[in-house]
Amino acid sequence: MKISNVLIPTCVRDFALPAGTPEHVTFDIHIENGALAQWNIAGAATNNIANGILISAMVDVHLHIDKTYVVQEVGAADGDLFKAINLMAEHRAGWTASDIAARMERALHDAYQHGSRALRTHLDWPLRDAPTALAVFEQLRDAWRGRLTMQCVSLTPLDFFDNAFDSEDLALEVACADQTCNKALGEAALLGAFVYRNERIYDKLQRVFDLAIKNSLLLDFHVDEGLDADARGLRAIAELTIKNNYHGKVTCGHACSLSVQPTEEAMQTLKLCAQAGIHLVALPTTNLYLQGAWNATPLERGITRIKEAVGQGVNTCMATDNVADGFYPYGSYDLLASFALGVQMAHLSPATGSLGMITTHPAKAMGLPWDGMMRPGCPADFVLLQARDTYELLNATGLRRQVIRAGAAIKEGPEA
Ligand SMILES: [Zn+2]
Repeated sequence: MKISNVLIPTCVRDFALPAGTPEHVTFDIHIENGALAQWNIAGAATNNIANGILISAMVDVHLHIDKTYVVQEVGAADGDLFKAINLMAEHRAGWTASDIAARMERALHDAYQHGSRALRTHLDWPLRDAPTALAVFEQLRDAWRGRLTMQCVSLTPLDFFDNAFDSEDLALEVACADQTCNKALGEAALLGAFVYRNERIYDKLQRVFDLAIKNSLLLDFHVDEGLDADARGLRAIAELTIKNNYHGKVTCGHACSLSVQPTEEAMQTLKLCAQAGIHLVALPTTNLYLQGAWNATPLERGITRIKEAVGQGVNTCMATDNVADGFYPYGSYDLLASFALGVQMAHLSPATGSLGMITTHPAKAMGLPWDGMMRPGCPADFVLLQARDTYELLNATGLRRQVIRAGAAIKEGPEA
């Protein structure tokens, strides 16, 4: 198979170009045996119109596929995070394994069809014992192996960790789930918590770190998902990551309050995040919907300080988060659509320069065997976008795509 005359953004390619190669250059890609075999420069003239933009298949590092597609039943929370949490908790009481399996299957199908190759989902885990969703997840993870690499995270309120015995058991359950993973492929089960302005936050977070260290688990937090400037969980997590020597093993999603804190304070926190090797995940759709006023036009965007995080060298990602549930009633598992919104919310320009946030950066956060950079020998798992340049990237036509997996275009299938 040959893909002709395509742009490949510098953030997703690792080609040694000859000295003096012009900036605007298109490539031909040769694929053999499911891998990138060879590349060559196709055209360099400024009036050469590319056949599209080629990127590596995407990695969606923050999802909730256990509670998706339930908005018709629970209703939308209209911007109130804590109302959404309560609505979903009530709904969760009625979940059965077959409901969860149907929702997850539909989500995985959607993510795969849109060009994701790996994903990490949080699973609501409010009590000590593993939720029904875990067994369903493990079954689907095994069934989808080879098409999607999947990780899961226990999502538990931080205050739960005040109870030493119960939290010890919960961590053991997560460790058991981690044992069922194919580590060589990048699968994992992680320990997580929802962190927002908790009392004695350092004590509770330290317990989470203790349990992670004891059970050799990576960590992934929902942190500071709100616009109270005194929500400083991210800073506490960064400090504890450094103190516990857990560099590179911690992911933090949301960090909305960073956007309303004084710049100097926010920058200090981001410096600590960089030092701690924290992977930061911005969630454009949910943050835009849940943050800011609902009784008037909102002035706040809710998204974390992406540019500043990148500037400090923090591994910064964008992900999809909730889809069609009480937290976010719209959306789909098209990571490029979430990215398109994030680019505009955070004024990232040029758009193509930030594509690492949905490819290579989350691959690093998830510790996947392939870093997502295109080079000879890498898997031919690509997304070929119809956009012919960076300015067409975010429009409906530009976002049309062909998903290529193991060197072959995938077939559009009916929804699961
Ligand atoms: Zn989330």
